[in-house]
Amino acid sequence: MSAVAGRPAPKPGIMDISPYVPGDDGAGLTGRVFKLASNETPLGASPAAIAAYRDNASRLAIYPDGSASALRKAIGAHFGLNPDRIVCGAGSDEVLNLIAWAYLGPGDEAIYSRHGFLVYRIAILGCGATPVVAEEKDARADVDALLACVSPRTRVVYLANPNNPTGTYLPIDEIRRLHAGLPPGVLLVLDGAYAEYVRRNDYEAGIELVATSENVVMTRTFSKIYGLANLRLGWAYCPAHVADVLNRIRGPFNISGPAIAAGVAALGDQAHVDAAVAHNETWMARLEAAFTGLGLKVTPSVANFLLVHFPDVPGLSAAQADAFLRSRGLVLRRVAAYGFDNALRMSIGSAEANELVIAALGEFLGGREAGRR
Ligand SMILES: *Cc1c(COP(=O)(O)O)cnc(C)c1O
Repeated sequence: MSAVAGRPAPKPGIMDISPYVPGDDGAGLTGRVFKLASNETPLGASPAAIAAYRDNASRLAIYPDGSASALRKAIGAHFGLNPDRIVCGAGSDEVLNLIAWAYLGPGDEAIYSRHGFLVYRIAILGCGATPVVAEEKDARADVDALLACVSPRTRVVYLANPNNPTGTYLPIDEIRRLHAGLPPGVLLVLDGAYAEYVRRNDYEAGIELVATSENVVMTRTFSKIYGLANLRLGWAYCPAHVADVLNRIRGPFNISGPAIAAGVAALGDQAHVDAAVAHNETWMARLEAAFTGLGLKVTPSVANFLLVHFPDVPGLSAAQADAFLRSRGLVLRRVAAYGFDNALRMSIGSAEANELVIAALGEFLGGREAGRR
């Protein structure tokens, strides 16, 4: 879009951004609403985290610890990491954007995969850099395709593992092969937003790779399994030189005191995390079986959501299924912006919500088949 004379113009790239569309909260619907559109945990936050948050209410007038040292110490102790190499952000979204801000500018390229998390594209364009999209195979990132996109201008590769909205993942061997194929001056960003949910022996979030190289960063979040999405809290584990760079440009008080306190408490409640994993395991299997039984295709997921594909049959499209589910207060996520025109992404919800979706989809598909269209 060209500049309009007589008014301020943004930097090149910014008007190319399609604004991120968050999962609908169903605010326009009446009756009971189950939001299954943003991969939030049905268990909510740990009671310990809620208590820690409340305890901070008396200190709202006081600036937080700008270095978030209590939180970095707690993360370090929990995961066995050096706190000096942890950088916290207002959600991992902020960290992903700080990385773009620090390493990307006009003329630079950054790579992500076809169905990759859309925040990467926004972060890349926001810095005036050029997004380069690597094709996927079977809705899974493809290391060869990612490496084939590398050029002398490549500065960053963003990879969500597992990816959202597909739920697919790359085993650590493939991640190592990707890293080995990248020039040392290219930063590999491994976004492990769903790492805690993964139960696969060949999966690693990338801690060892960060520890043993100079060009890998792992990002994590408190928004998903820890249930603190509303507080905005994420972090990165970085090589020391990258932590130094990010600390120069981040806001001096980018995380609030209540978020720091709640994050520390959440890390201390492993039982809550274990319960979330167990709930997810049970319902992932049940939902997959139920949807497959209804004749729907499901992309195999290791995260806390499922990508459900609808048939190319008039009356049975994802858009129509979405409207039908909404009429019953069930809000899933449309994923056309991610290149899936005829699919919906469903976050694993409470038992009640999951049962309602299974029943509603049965009604939707059965009703149509029976010619009640
Ligand atoms: C949800 C999500 C995040 C987390 O974002 P926050 O800013 O930490 O809430 C990061 N990456 C992916 C792939 C996600 O799906």
